[in-house]
Amino acid sequence: MQIMNTTLHYAAALLSVAVATETWAACADTPGASRVQIQVLGSAGPRASRGRASASYLVYIDGVGRILVDAGGGTKVTFHQAGANFDDIELVALSHLHPDHSAEFPALLWPNGGSTRVAGPSGANVFPSIETFLDLMFGTNGAFEILASRIELDTITGDVTAAEPVMVWRGGDILVRGLGVPHGDAPTVGYRVDVGDASIGFASDQNGSNPAFVDFVKDVDVLVVHLGGPENPTAGIAALHAKPSVWGQMATAANAGHVLVSHISTPSQDELDARMSFMRENYRGLMTIADDLMCIEVK
Ligand SMILES: [Zn+2]
Ligand SMILES: [Zn+2]
Repeated sequence: MQIMNTTLHYAAALLSVAVATETWAACADTPGASRVQIQVLGSAGPRASRGRASASYLVYIDGVGRILVDAGGGTKVTFHQAGANFDDIELVALSHLHPDHSAEFPALLWPNGGSTRVAGPSGANVFPSIETFLDLMFGTNGAFEILASRIELDTITGDVTAAEPVMVWRGGDILVRGLGVPHGDAPTVGYRVDVGDASIGFASDQNGSNPAFVDFVKDVDVLVVHLGGPENPTAGIAALHAKPSVWGQMATAANAGHVLVSHISTPSQDELDARMSFMRENYRGLMTIADDLMCIEVK
C-alpha cells in the first residue's frame, strides 16, 4: 500500500511539471512579432506578489534578446523560461542597486560566465557605484571571486547628478541613454532605448519629481513604469515612489503610446485595481499590467 501511494505522488509530480513547461516561450516566437519587443522577466517589486519575480526586462531586437534591464530576484528562472541566452546579451542596464533590481545578476552569470557591458548608477557617495558593486562581487576577494576568471564586463557608469541624459551604448541603430531619477537615497538611472524609430522608456523606481525625465522619454512607444506605492503613501514611500496619479500624469505629459505597469508591489487585487484607477484618471492611452514572461510588441 505504501508503494502505491508513492507511485501516485510521483505520477502527479510528473503531470505538474508537464503543465508548467507548456507556458515557456520566447518573445521571438510570437506570431507576427515586431522588430522590437519587451519580454517581462520580473514584474514585482521587493515584496512577495503572487509568485512574480522582481524587476527585469529583456529587449528583443530582430528576434534576439540583446538588452537586459534590471536583474531582480527570480530572474534566473524566467530568463531560462524565456529561452534567453546570456551570450546574446550586449548590455545589462541596472537601474539601481536595490536587491529587487540587481540581486540576481551573479546568478545569471553562474556557472558559465560571460562577456558583456554592464551599465549602472554612480554612487553619489551613499551607495557603491556600479564599478564598486561589480568589484565587490567579482573582484579579488570579492564575494563571487570564483567568477572572476570566467567573465569580462565592460562597465558604463551613469552619472546620476548629470542634468542632461548620458550616453550608455550605441550599436548600429540602437541607442541607449540614461538619466538620473529621484528614488529616496538610492542613486537610480532611468533608461531610454531607441532602435531605429522604435523607442522604450524604462522609468525604474522614482518619485516622479524630476521634470527632465518626462522630456527624456517624450513620445516613446512604450513606457515601463514601476508602481511602488498607493495614492496616499507614507512620507517614506513618497520619497521613493511616485503616486499612481503622478505616473498617469507623467505618461500623458510624455505622450507615451503604451504604458506597461510593472513592479507590482501589492498582493491585493483590490489595491492594484485602485492604483490603476488613479492612473487611468490621468492617462487615456493603452495600459497593460505586466506579468512574468509577457511579451510586449514595441514596433
Ligand atoms: Zn524596486
Ligand atoms: Zn528601488
